[in-house]
Amino acid sequence: MNADEHEPAPTAVRERLEREEHEAAEAFLREHQPRLEAEKHAVRELGDRIGYGRLMQAAEEVWRDINRERGMPGAEHTVGPCAAVLVPCPNCSDGLDEGESCDWCAGAGRVTHRVAKAIGDLGR
Ligand SMILES: [Zn+2]
Repeated sequence: MNADEHEPAPTAVRERLEREEHEAAEAFLREHQPRLEAEKHAVRELGDRIGYGRLMQAAEEVWRDINRERGMPGAEHTVGPCAAVLVPCPNCSDGLDEGESCDWCAGAGRVTHRVAKAIGDLGR
């Protein structure tokens, strides 16, 4: 008897793993959805009260302070300009290789007009 006769076909294994992964992700979302909604509600209440731009700035400031205290300055996310004043990042518009990050937009896919012009002036 061939040992492979009892092994499931690779496609069947992959499909089972994908199904199990999907089911686990669905279960995770079901379990955590109430907490995620409560967090979103809390953010909305604070944002409505102090303004969403200020909320994001304050979050960055607090996160920066915490990171400095932990000896990890610069690990916080930053707040950028309003999306309406941004344009698609020319460096990303051609598509980056998988796993490659963009030095111009840090993966945001958007830059200011001035940055887009600078990229063009440098000829990328
Ligand atoms: Zn980019």
